[in-house]
Amino acid sequence: RAKDAGRNRVCFHDETFGQLACERVILGRELVAAIKCGGLALQYQPQVDIETGRIVGLEALVRWNHPQRGSISPAVFIPVAEKTGSIVDLGKWVFDEACRQTRVWQDEGVDVPTVAVNLSAIQCKRPELEQDIVSSLKRWNIAPGRIELELTESVLMEATEHHRDIITRLRALGLRLAIDDFGTGYSSLNYLTNFPVDRIKIAQELIFKCTTEIRCAAVVRAAIRLAEELDTQVLAEGVENAEQARFLSSAGCKSAQGYFFSRPVDAAQVASLMRARFIHPVALLAAPKGSG
Ligand code: C2E
Ligand code: MG
Ligand code: MG
Ligand code: MG
Repeated sequence: RAKDAGRNRVCFHDETFGQLACERVILGRELVAAIKCGGLALQYQPQVDIETGRIVGLEALVRWNHPQRGSISPAVFIPVAEKTGSIVDLGKWVFDEACRQTRVWQDEGVDVPTVAVNLSAIQCKRPELEQDIVSSLKRWNIAPGRIELELTESVLMEATEHHRDIITRLRALGLRLAIDDFGTGYSSLNYLTNFPVDRIKIAQELIFKCTTEIRCAAVVRAAIRLAEELDTQVLAEGVENAEQARFLSSAGCKSAQGYFFSRPVDAAQVASLMRARFIHPVALLAAPKGSG
């Protein structure tokens, strides 16, 4: 500890920048330990059919329960993992854990739909990715079609031919491919011509404003149309209220994910949600159509 403090003092000289950089170094070291020693966990957020509330999928989201700092957001530690390179081990752990949990659910008779796993750009550039994924699928005896890989637009846009091959091969194995945070990356849509994707996930930044800003509504509607044209599924992220859900439904978007339906929950809670099979935040959703 004393040695640690001494080492820290060297970094923590007066400047904020130095402090931040040092914070990251410490966090990075602790993260390596957390990955190795079971300090990470996955939560799962249900994806639902907006009309019926039926659960159609789950997104796995990594959590870090830090012994001193409490729960640290992936928005904080994923960038650290990417900078320090530990994202490779972290990503491997996440994929394997998602497969392990899927196997547990299946053995328990919990009928899990697709489980989506986020991949970072760095993972997608490594040729070992395919082997790691195949090993986990085999280890836990999971059909590839059960797993969806979430990639951001920037990953697909910046992909060289070599990286494109890696991603295309994964899809050829039967894994599903989704574009995460659609509409917040680069404005080019050209990557869509190179990658056959199974799903487009419209970014929550757009969904948050879709009922209050008409220009946002227009963009969301256009994204839904684009998905239709591409014969690709579409899902709205970050749906927080009934108004947004209704807007999306009337715009032709069939599935959604967000606090309105459910926050990310742990595996045990998933089992009970899945047994119920439906999530009905408000019966009110169906009201405008007059049916039930
Ligand atoms: P993402 O993949 O776009 O995940 C959606 C994020 O939005 C999650 O935050 C989720 O909890 C949050 N969210 C869901 N519904 C709502 C809502 O209605 N309102 C609001 N305000 N937020 C909502 P989380 O879990 O903190 O993850 C943040 C980001 O961290 C993820 O964004 C993803 O980019 C990254 N991430 C999470 N897990 C992993 C992982 O295992 N691997 C990698 N590479 N990245 C991950
Ligand atoms: Mg995601
Ligand atoms: Mg997203
Ligand atoms: Mg995001």
